[in-house]
Amino acid sequence: MPPHPETWLRVTEAGLYCEPGGFFVDPTRPVDRAIITHGHSDHARPGHAHVLATPETLAIMRERMGEDRAGTTQQALGYGEALTVNGVRVWLRPAGHVLGSAQVCLEWQGSRAVVSGDYKRRHDPTCPPFEPERCDVFVTEATFALPVFRHPPAAQEIGRLLASLALFPDRTHVIGCYALGKAQRLIALLREAGWDAPIPIHGALQRLCTLYETLGVPLGPLVPATVATKDKLAGTIVLAPPSAIADRWARRLNDPVPCLASGWMRVRQRAKQGGVELPMVISDHADWPELLETCTEVEASEVWITHGREEALIHALGQQGIRGRALHLVGRGEEDAE
Ligand SMILES: [Zn+2]
Repeated sequence: MPPHPETWLRVTEAGLYCEPGGFFVDPTRPVDRAIITHGHSDHARPGHAHVLATPETLAIMRERMGEDRAGTTQQALGYGEALTVNGVRVWLRPAGHVLGSAQVCLEWQGSRAVVSGDYKRRHDPTCPPFEPERCDVFVTEATFALPVFRHPPAAQEIGRLLASLALFPDRTHVIGCYALGKAQRLIALLREAGWDAPIPIHGALQRLCTLYETLGVPLGPLVPATVATKDKLAGTIVLAPPSAIADRWARRLNDPVPCLASGWMRVRQRAKQGGVELPMVISDHADWPELLETCTEVEASEVWITHGREEALIHALGQQGIRGRALHLVGRGEEDAE
């Protein structure tokens, strides 16, 4: 009988550790060997000796943390390629979260675990969709694991934005969005909705947008958004980091409409506190139905939950005969992309 994954995949202070393989997945401190699911800073940290990830994630890590801090040695593994590390078979499947995001699939002595990192099941023109992989243990996050979290279709939220713009044609709509993933997805969704005008972007978003284009994700014309060009920004859709929409930078634009694209915008209070006039519920994380659907689809008898609203998910999984276990990993969900 194959060994239970809890005998070979353990929670340590540095994060999930595959003992026979001798490597960590998304470790929170510098380690000798790390496999990284995706480039967000609560998963990809600097200072590891050896890093294995998709080519896109490695490129994002180099861009964000610099060549020398993104791993002394880097090893690229494309989706669907497999390798064996000390007897552990390792392969990566798309997670549909941001460009390069992967689920880390591990198999040892016939026992299989999938560490999904962050994932979503919705349409995202900037990365390949999530691919379910059958496993014994599925490791998931639970950021939006409450029945209240049901993300509307992203196209519907883009439609609300365009309707607001039609209503206030002289105001500048400033959308707060995270620099890695959300910004590029919003741009691509706007293009799909027929918005082909140049999109002004805050300087903090520039490098990753350029990298996405280099990696083959077309974003259409982008121009720098500066206060110096504020008259030209009237009637446009400007993208900026979430921190910028309420600060002086945004207030100096023409009669701005502060918007924020996040799964948290489902919570009215959050939008109000942040001074958000147009909340857009667009998330790069699975919502409640997607979490349940995914845990069932991978046919795992056990689901390990890294962080988030684990009680509700454990309860709901229990009703379907799936055992849930809270890992309480620290340092997750701190930054980026909700
Ligand atoms: Zn993430």
